[in-house]
Amino acid sequence: MVNLFEALREQVDPVAVADRYLDLVPSGSTLKGRCPYSDHEDKNPSFYIYPDGRFYCYGCGRHGDVVDLWAALKGLSPGIEAALDFATRWTRIGIILSWRKEVRWIEQCI
Ligand SMILES: [Zn+2]
Repeated sequence: MVNLFEALREQVDPVAVADRYLDLVPSGSTLKGRCPYSDHEDKNPSFYIYPDGRFYCYGCGRHGDVVDLWAALKGLSPGIEAALDFATRWTRIGIILSWRKEVRWIEQCI
């Protein structure tokens, strides 16, 4: 079975996600902007997104992939909660249907 996190990393461009919420500017091969974590008051942009889709904040040290980014942007718990919320908003519905267990979990939450 395909891992949900791997599938999301493959199918969704983190830059497209970040660009919708953060004011990003190019910096070399990276994009930088203000850190999305609410407990980090990032006055000088120290949040970087790398070409491999991972991010790192040089201010608070947080890092991760596109699902972690989504959790930060939406104030969700990282992990399956953020992954499912992300999947429902950023992927075609068919992608979710293969994760039957998770789909049942989504239905219980609606
Ligand atoms: Zn930060």
